[in-house]
Amino acid sequence: MHKKLCLVALACAACSTATPERQIVNDAAAALGGRDRILAVKTLVIEGDGKNGNLGQDMTPEATGQAFALSDYKRAIDVAGHRARVEQTRTPNFAYFQGMAPQKQVQGIDGDVAYNIAPNGTATRAANAVAKDRNAEMYHHPLTIVRAALDPAAKLSNPRTAGAERVVDVTTADGVALTLAIDGTTKLPTRVVSMADNTNLGDVAIESSFSDYQDVGGFKLPSRLTTKTDHYVTAEIHAARQTVDEDAGDLAAPAAARAAAAIAGPPPAAVTVEEIGKGVWFLGGQSHHSVIVEFADHLTLIEAPQNDVRALAVIAKARELRPGKPVTEVVNTHHHFDHSGGIRAAVAEGLTVVTHKGNAVFYQTAVGRAHTIAPDALAKAPKPLKIEAVDGQLELKDATRTVYLYAVDGNPHSDTLLMAYLPQEKLLVEVDAFTPGAAAQPYAANLLENVKRRNLTVDRIVPLHGAIAPFSELVKAAGS
Ligand SMILES: [Zn+2]
Repeated sequence: MHKKLCLVALACAACSTATPERQIVNDAAAALGGRDRILAVKTLVIEGDGKNGNLGQDMTPEATGQAFALSDYKRAIDVAGHRARVEQTRTPNFAYFQGMAPQKQVQGIDGDVAYNIAPNGTATRAANAVAKDRNAEMYHHPLTIVRAALDPAAKLSNPRTAGAERVVDVTTADGVALTLAIDGTTKLPTRVVSMADNTNLGDVAIESSFSDYQDVGGFKLPSRLTTKTDHYVTAEIHAARQTVDEDAGDLAAPAAARAAAAIAGPPPAAVTVEEIGKGVWFLGGQSHHSVIVEFADHLTLIEAPQNDVRALAVIAKARELRPGKPVTEVVNTHHHFDHSGGIRAAVAEGLTVVTHKGNAVFYQTAVGRAHTIAPDALAKAPKPLKIEAVDGQLELKDATRTVYLYAVDGNPHSDTLLMAYLPQEKLLVEVDAFTPGAAAQPYAANLLENVKRRNLTVDRIVPLHGAIAPFSELVKAAGS
């Protein structure tokens, strides 16, 4: 009896009656080149070209026209050593704030250390959240996901059919949750999906799609790889040359990045205060500034940038300046993610969002999105969005002061850009259209045109990046 049970168990393990979830992985492995071959893979190198989207920084929240053309693209994965590196040169197809010159990028992951190497060779450690995403990204390839799914320590679940695909959820031995889809007919992997946190969009699906499979050293490998974050295409890669188990180079994290302390989250906010007019304060201290304007019975905040940490600190500082007056609204300069990353925090604090009409639908959606992976202030205390959409211009006015908000029309930086004009102080608050001191000023001429068209008399520019500057600096930058 004992002997017979053993034989039955052996027979099942060896051949027949794989579970449906196991069958999907087995089918994919067979289609790609065979289980044993896949398990023996050590390195994978993909070279080619493609393009990157401009997630969160295009002309409108839903625009997709801006891209970086990629050349000298190389993605190297040390499968067994758990290291990966992407090197690429990217060239913008739009008026980029740093200018149009090609930029070399190097981004890697080595165990739990994510790192970037600047064109001058300086390596810096990236945040833990980046490391988590890059670790997941390593499985966004047919060979790596199927290899990980074949590991007995992986958990397979929820086998299903979706249209022409068979789909299975995979939790890898190192705890990464992914979804693998394969073509129902060819059995070749079509997609890998994992979830990630995005400050602005909350829980997002990162989906890599695979097509145009070709023969590479006994394997079938896709020569087109397309990646989306939520519904935004972030990368389209065309593999011109692929190799398995050839030299992948040294993929170890540079010593400087490895020695650096882990980065658990955004740095603590440092908020400096400078009164630049009676009842007008410039809040600086880090990369993204804000302005507070005092009215008779309330304060208006201009910009809640970056993330909860910065936005909540800026709101707290405003309350400190005039404890008797509520901060009732935030003027948002434009939708770009670094300038709107604190909008959800502002909503959580009860502020009305005043923004270009082109952002209204986007913020309505953003405020309603799930943030379960990294719950933010609004996720912990949900509130509806109160919004005031600016159509061309808007006066914020009471007995004590007027602030004019104007759309910056036709600016190549963004189609949803607002500037704020304080006539008493002759201050112009703006961001990105003109950054005092920046080497490239591709948007300054348009800003000057807008100032002239509105017949504004400006003494000083109050930029939300860089230092306050006399108007003459804008005139100079516009002519350069
Ligand atoms: Zn911007």
